[in-house]
Amino acid sequence: MSATSLSKDFVSSCLTGVADPVRGKDLVSSGALQWVSACDTYASIRLHLPANAGRAVFDQVAQLSHAKLSQIAQRNGSRVDSFIVEFVDDAGTVLHTARFGGMVASASNEPRGSASGSDSSPVSRSDRPEAGPTGASGSPAASGHTPIPGLQPANRPAGAGLPGVKHIIAVGAGKGGVGKSSIALNLAVGLARKGHAVGLLDGDIYGPSMPTMLGLAPLEQAVLHGKLQPFYIHGIKAITIGKLVDADRPLIWRGPMAHGAFKQLTEQTQWGELDYLIIDLPPGTGDIALTMAQSLALTGAVVVCTPQKVALDDAIRAARMFQQLNIEVLGVVENMSSFVGDDGKVYDIFGKGGAEVMAQRLGVPFLGSVPITMSLRANSDNGDPTANFTGADPAGTRLKSALEALVQNLESQIALGAMRSGREKPVLTIS
Ligand code: ADP
Repeated sequence: MSATSLSKDFVSSCLTGVADPVRGKDLVSSGALQWVSACDTYASIRLHLPANAGRAVFDQVAQLSHAKLSQIAQRNGSRVDSFIVEFVDDAGTVLHTARFGGMVASASNEPRGSASGSDSSPVSRSDRPEAGPTGASGSPAASGHTPIPGLQPANRPAGAGLPGVKHIIAVGAGKGGVGKSSIALNLAVGLARKGHAVGLLDGDIYGPSMPTMLGLAPLEQAVLHGKLQPFYIHGIKAITIGKLVDADRPLIWRGPMAHGAFKQLTEQTQWGELDYLIIDLPPGTGDIALTMAQSLALTGAVVVCTPQKVALDDAIRAARMFQQLNIEVLGVVENMSSFVGDDGKVYDIFGKGGAEVMAQRLGVPFLGSVPITMSLRANSDNGDPTANFTGADPAGTRLKSALEALVQNLESQIALGAMRSGREKPVLTIS
């Protein structure tokens, strides 16, 4: 970790110096601190306080926590650019959220405040590459691909990892509409909620959905010293082509443009240090996957499908594509495997269990299934994926446990994969 990085343990230790106004001890020993996520100079925490403590108390605790964290961080040669405090009740429902600092990430090695200084340039609409119709005359497509203005070309060997990024995981699907982006996003948010530093690359350059799903509409894309600065939101860092092109223009790329855009997004983003970078791929078995396989060393891929026979056939093709490209399939996710009504009643609309059978046939792990819920759709439309993990009604509880199980299984498969490839040795703990 670089000198300015905040860690989960560091944030927790700072909070031992802040009093729990309800229980009388500090926030850690009182049990109020439920969850910490830290990454570079950003941190999020979740505090459990009774609802009747009231908004003024929540704000005061958040301010004291921020002040304590900033003070100790500064003493240690670090800093806090963004700090989010979520207050939850017994059922995990979010009562109040306090935010300090911006949501756009700045480079961890830049001087304080430089993200909003003169070097930090939001990409203006007129500077944005326009994904024009194939072969449009005079379009920059003629030169191969459209460079994103202000970015420095990356000079990296093919097949390398990204500096500071431990695991790169692609999420693909045989066809569109099966919930690939939703699963990619929820995996990213779920991993971050477990305290990992996570990035999400919306590589679905033909139909980027992350601006909506993450609620990025009011935010501007920033470029700092020739690097795209990811948005820091919902505990993850995210970048999407959707913030670089006009939302109301069709995204039609020809091959080399698509490659160029994907590579620029991946390599010219200031990711900082990440435990996981999740890449949401375009649907199908097209060339973006090929570009990715050739240019990045991936930990593995996740294949998303729905239970219908036709969707499974497409998913088999997607899994085989990854295998052909020598990318390990970390597992298959069955999305929309059943519908859970708000009352918790389950309806198997598309059938159930097909993806698990398919995974067995292919000899790849099955990571789990995610039900259709009204809340997941609404939370995606409202740009609030965090709410998928905090639902308290019967459907919300099922969704939350399905997503948490998925995240847990993915982590296990990554750990197993690392052992198999000899990157990490198993640790035997005897108690
Ligand atoms: P893809 O990336 O495969 O095209 P998306 O993730 O964009 O699919 O999902 C398509 C639509 O289906 C979105 O409106 C999303 O909110 C919705 N959706 C996906 N999965 C679920 C689910 N499990 N429950 C409810 N809605 C879902």
